[in-house]
Amino acid sequence: MNIRFKTLSELKKLLETKEISSCELVSETFKNIASSKTNSFITLDEERSLIKARAFDEGKIKGDLAGIPIAQKDLFCTKNLRTTCGSRILENFIPPYDATVVENLNAAGSICVGKTNMDEFAMGSSNETSYYGTVKNPWDFERVPGGSSGGSAAAVSEGLICAATGTDTGGSIRQPAALCGITGIKPTYGRASRWGMIAFASSLDQAGTFARNAEDCALLLNHICSHDTKDSTSISDEQENYLENIDDDLKGKKIGIVKEFDISNLNKEVQDSFEESKKIFEALGVNFVEVSLPNIKLSVPTYYVVAPAECSSNLSRFDGVKYGYRAKNINNLEELYIKSRSEGFGDEVKRRILIGTYVLSAGFYDAYYKKAQQSRRMIKNDFMEAFKDVDIIMSPSSPSSAFKIGSKTEDPIEMYLEDLFTISANLAGVPAMSIPHGFAYGLPIGLQLMGNYLEESKILNFAHQYQKNSDWHIKSPNLEEIS
Ligand code: GLN
Repeated sequence: MNIRFKTLSELKKLLETKEISSCELVSETFKNIASSKTNSFITLDEERSLIKARAFDEGKIKGDLAGIPIAQKDLFCTKNLRTTCGSRILENFIPPYDATVVENLNAAGSICVGKTNMDEFAMGSSNETSYYGTVKNPWDFERVPGGSSGGSAAAVSEGLICAATGTDTGGSIRQPAALCGITGIKPTYGRASRWGMIAFASSLDQAGTFARNAEDCALLLNHICSHDTKDSTSISDEQENYLENIDDDLKGKKIGIVKEFDISNLNKEVQDSFEESKKIFEALGVNFVEVSLPNIKLSVPTYYVVAPAECSSNLSRFDGVKYGYRAKNINNLEELYIKSRSEGFGDEVKRRILIGTYVLSAGFYDAYYKKAQQSRRMIKNDFMEAFKDVDIIMSPSSPSSAFKIGSKTEDPIEMYLEDLFTISANLAGVPAMSIPHGFAYGLPIGLQLMGNYLEESKILNFAHQYQKNSDWHIKSPNLEEIS
């Protein structure tokens, strides 16, 4: 049976009615991955996947996601399965434990077929910083899939897998979801456990998921999110069922349009798609209200102080001693540190460590880091004010569609601007998602929906209603044409 491009819910049904077995599903998945040219996986786990599939077929595994193949971003620790975080420094790292998110998805019966490619330590917007090679966008192999969770997004977009995890520190789920024409969500900061997620910027990092539609995302989120005592920032509020309100009527609800997000200088097709999407919501009885986030212009500069600062501290653990890559022909300890880190990290990671160390150093701390923390609070307060008047906030997910591989690598600032619309949600800690809503230059673009704290149900409800009244999420790349 051709399983490519089937949604999670469709596959679940096929398993339930026994039209397909999990063994067939897993074998088909590996066949499709083997013929793929997008480089979206770093490590595969075929043998164990088939053992699990057999166990499901024999009725030994139960659960909401039982028997379904999924993929994990290579930033989540997976017990006895190599976890590289896209870096040379972790090329041979085999974690002795599972991340909580992985544990949760395993407990629901899903089968992790492998680890997806990503920007090194999740630093990037194009997947070009991965030590394991660039991922290609399934819609156009000359273009990037977005990043940092580009492998996960490309794998779902290409129909290799119906769902894959991602992490989002400044947009790494939403921007690749947009550029690959799929749905992706990052919940409220602290809603999913960070235990076992290799840290980039701990106060911003959040796990989430990619799927073919909002309904599947809701089902996955029901398992990805949990309270975890192993993560001190984990939220203990009662866990919601994200599918419960997904069909709610939107009549009389309000969407905020951010006054300060000037989209008039973006590509005409991006603007037109935005207007069309507004009309879809209007037809569902939604009202539009202008909201102001006066400090939003500080988002990118604030992020590029806070994130590197935290990264420089988090990445200090990779020293050639504890685990990971160790340089050869060393004469003393200092040389061991310097050589292992110089050879183990790529350029972008080094750039962030340098910036981070600088902004945290005595004499500069007040001028940069403290100021960034203050502006971060102002951005958060802006969101709190705005959400007094509206249910959700809507914007484009990224400034345009997928760009050519190599076209922004020489200009880091240009690359950083990819996250113009996404970064503020991480600084504020609010949930946000991206759904496909049109094309620019013949390539998919995304619509961002942001919600108030712990209101992921609300954005999923808006997204689901949108998808019931549009067909952008059903479109898929024509693989024959581009291969
Ligand atoms: N593109 C952003 C960066 O390079 C965000 C990455 C992310 O969300 N992990 O930092």
